[in-house]
Amino acid sequence: MADVIYLDNNATTRVADEVVDAMMPFFTELYGNPSSMHTFGGQVGHYLKLARSQVAEFLGAQPDEIIFTACGTEGDNTAIHSAFKSQPYKKHAITTKVEHPAVMSLFKEYEKHGYQVTWLDVDGEGRLDLNALKASIRPDTALISTMWANNETGVVFPVEEIADIAKAHGVLYHIDAVQAVGKTEIDLSKLPADYLVLSGHKLHAPKGVGALYVRKGAPFVPLLIGGHQEKGRRSGTENIASIVGLGKALTLFHPKEDAPKIAALRDKLENALLAQIPNSRLNGAKDERLDNTTNISFKHVEGEAILMLMSQLGICASSGSACASGSLDPSHVLRAMGVPFTFAHGSIRFSLSRYTTEAEINRVIEAMPPIISRLRQLSPFHD
Ligand code: PLP
Repeated sequence: MADVIYLDNNATTRVADEVVDAMMPFFTELYGNPSSMHTFGGQVGHYLKLARSQVAEFLGAQPDEIIFTACGTEGDNTAIHSAFKSQPYKKHAITTKVEHPAVMSLFKEYEKHGYQVTWLDVDGEGRLDLNALKASIRPDTALISTMWANNETGVVFPVEEIADIAKAHGVLYHIDAVQAVGKTEIDLSKLPADYLVLSGHKLHAPKGVGALYVRKGAPFVPLLIGGHQEKGRRSGTENIASIVGLGKALTLFHPKEDAPKIAALRDKLENALLAQIPNSRLNGAKDERLDNTTNISFKHVEGEAILMLMSQLGICASSGSACASGSLDPSHVLRAMGVPFTFAHGSIRFSLSRYTTEAEINRVIEAMPPIISRLRQLSPFHD
């Protein structure tokens, strides 16, 4: 689809051409199993090692602190299980009300089995209160688990300060960095987190691969049990082509050049929509935010209807308004921020990438005002 304007990069990203090129030999020539005794398979092990070093270097970690997974959800689940299972006498965890379901749903499952979870509030701009975090730490707290950046609003949490608090209280800290990796600087040599999770398909690598960082010395209990792959920490034959792709994708980030360009386009879009469309509002802190994300609500219109009209023009974005069950409840993130219902229903997340062009942003700026006014004319709701 040549004419698509893709502003849904927090959902998934286009695989970079360089990544596809790096992966191809692992389907056609180097298709051996790295665990095989023969040299044909064994040579693949070299590329596995290289990819592990690339991920480690990007994060400021050591190669043996990196475990390859199938997705962000697997990394998040493994970290949380590890913290609980390795400390069976601790049955409490602290997280936030705005986590991704990969974290939130697992904690809800643990709650059904006698565990207690403190769900921290956020303020109207999606920010955490670190005093509330400190006050909720108990002697039986096994884990603090927060995202680095929110997938719906882009709001960034102060992970360095949270890590210091966790460390000072002797509590493990897991960071869901799925939306942060490739969008903000990460240096785990300076950040005392115990677990950190990333996912390939959010950073121009393919779907079906991710990585879990486990700090040396942090407790670890595998989720998948079977063969000896990943030193027994994640059994299952390695998805070598995608692992190579993930390593390659991380070498392609040039934050000093890309980030200002992406932020300028995002700001242009955001400022134009807020200025041109009456009764619109930004959801989330303006400054403590990923450069690529803007979440804007349009009062008295439904997000799904907006997306449909955008889609007819080839513009892809997401709505935070409906939940997967098909009910029309606004997203849990916007509800936690106290966004009024009349606004929350009409929220659209635009998420850019280094491939987004100014011409595309100009087209979206032109397209949005008529879409919103057309829907408002049809809407039974008015001030
Ligand atoms: N965490 C966050 C913040 C996400 O945005 C996502 C995906 O949208 C995930 C976890 C889950 O990642 P995956 O789709 O790779 O399982």
